[in-house]
Amino acid sequence: MKILTEDFENKVKKILTKDKKILISGHYNPDGDSLGGSLGLYYLLENAGFDVFVMMPSDLPDFMKWLPGADKISIYKKRKNELINSADIIFFVDFNDVSRTENAAEALKNSEAVKIMLDHHPQPSDDAEFIFSDTKVSSASEIVYEFINMLGFSEYIDKNVATCLFTGIMTDTLNFSVNSSRPETFEIVSNLLSLGIDKDAVYEKVNNNFSLKRLKLIGYLLYKKMKAVSDYKFAYMLISKKELNEFDFRDGDHEGIVNMPLSVADINVSLIVIEQDDFVKLSLRSKGDYDVNLLARKYFNGGGHKNAAGGRIYKPYSEVEDYILSSVKAYFSEN
Ligand code: 5GP
Ligand code: MN
Repeated sequence: MKILTEDFENKVKKILTKDKKILISGHYNPDGDSLGGSLGLYYLLENAGFDVFVMMPSDLPDFMKWLPGADKISIYKKRKNELINSADIIFFVDFNDVSRTENAAEALKNSEAVKIMLDHHPQPSDDAEFIFSDTKVSSASEIVYEFINMLGFSEYIDKNVATCLFTGIMTDTLNFSVNSSRPETFEIVSNLLSLGIDKDAVYEKVNNNFSLKRLKLIGYLLYKKMKAVSDYKFAYMLISKKELNEFDFRDGDHEGIVNMPLSVADINVSLIVIEQDDFVKLSLRSKGDYDVNLLARKYFNGGGHKNAAGGRIYKPYSEVEDYILSSVKAYFSEN
């Protein structure tokens, strides 16, 4: 569904002036889309002569640190709200609710800046007064591209902007395997390629840049930890803190892992549980009509997209497996 708040284009054009200080924020544990969309917008606005900064609520995963502009990102530190408080305009890129910024949420919410949300998740909250959101598009980076065109700023798209936006589209579509059936997505990619980006280098840096330990972790998880519940065509794995340390598990490593069980014909929903200090983090993926956004919203304090969602369980790690199995059972019997 496409959502544009009333008179979005005219109102945003009026507000966006060069005397304003602009902050762009991605979400907690930023992924390729949040980073690519934010940095693409950053370079665009900078090229167009605006006063602009980028902030992420937490650090970048290692495989994204090569992105153009990655070194210009401020990582939010609690009680250091100067950057947020000094902003006149704040862009929210790739999230539908300010709570997705975790530790930065309170300061962002309290800020008096005008907030503009550029996103593609279902059910955007009213945390921003201006919203441009569309669940049909591949990624928030694609929304950023459309937003740039809407502003009439396409002349400022250079190779940096193009590389960042391409990275967001490529990563959020899992290398064009999902959410990428609209011809418009490929028209945008075609335009970005015309600007001279190195597509193959982006692919290499994102996908073939991991440690040997991570590959061994994947082998261990698939062989020793994955369990399949054939009645529900559902597979899951639990990863303890001890295992995370042993294999040097990094932020962002979950992405390539949680998708793997879906390569099995008879698995439609995949879930991984990652033990954290005060809660356990969940990552869910699905095929076709299986809606893990609803599952995560109802049982796991989370949300996301139909085929990719996340959440949290505030229970001891030892109780999590039973809770997941009973939740999934209940969900499948309701739907
Ligand atoms: P991931 O499994 O990669 O952490 O997240 C997959 C998708 O679910 C992303 O689109 C992300 O925005 C969303 N997501 C992940 N964690 C949460 C969460 O705790 N709450 C909500 N609402 N969405 C989440
Ligand atoms: Mn996204």
